[in-house]
Amino acid sequence: MQEGKLLNFVKELAILLETKPSEEIIFSKGKALLENLVAVDDWLPEEFCKAHPQYYQQYLLYADPLDRFSVVSFVWGPGQKTPLHNHTVWGMVGQLRGQERSADYHQQADASFEADESFLCQPGQVATVSPNTHDIHVVENALSDQTSISIHIYGGNIGRIERAVFDPTTGAEKLFISGYANSVTPNLWNTASNRV
Ligand code: FE
Repeated sequence: MQEGKLLNFVKELAILLETKPSEEIIFSKGKALLENLVAVDDWLPEEFCKAHPQYYQQYLLYADPLDRFSVVSFVWGPGQKTPLHNHTVWGMVGQLRGQERSADYHQQADASFEADESFLCQPGQVATVSPNTHDIHVVENALSDQTSISIHIYGGNIGRIERAVFDPTTGAEKLFISGYANSVTPNLWNTASNRV
């Protein structure tokens, strides 16, 4: 039964966040909710799956009115890749389609950044980011001939948060606000014709 999957996810996450959980709880109970959402790739409407020829796309699917969380589909064309960037809030990345490679980076004494080993995210898997432990990374589509899609959940409205990209060699920081690619969000309640 694919109808209402996103609505159910948003409801369950709102109920969880209402308890003001620790990050540890978010990364266990919240992660389980996201694993469930990305377990079967049958619910994301076509409009929010479209790759751009040049840039990876960030489509807002839902934002909590109190800015406690946002839900975004990231769509990567072949070869597309983020710059080195941070988030400033907790985040969970659930692979829905294709494969993404992500690597956490850590700043060294000379201000440059060095990567940990990269991690290949397969459909159904969930990775995390956190300003407390590992907030700076690079993500790329691991497939050279297919679109990859992941569903990102953040502890704020990620498209409206001022955050940073970094030059990996010099460590120089540049602030940015990402915004979203879409001007219209999906109707989570129109489950008869719109399977979200
Ligand atoms: Fe990221």
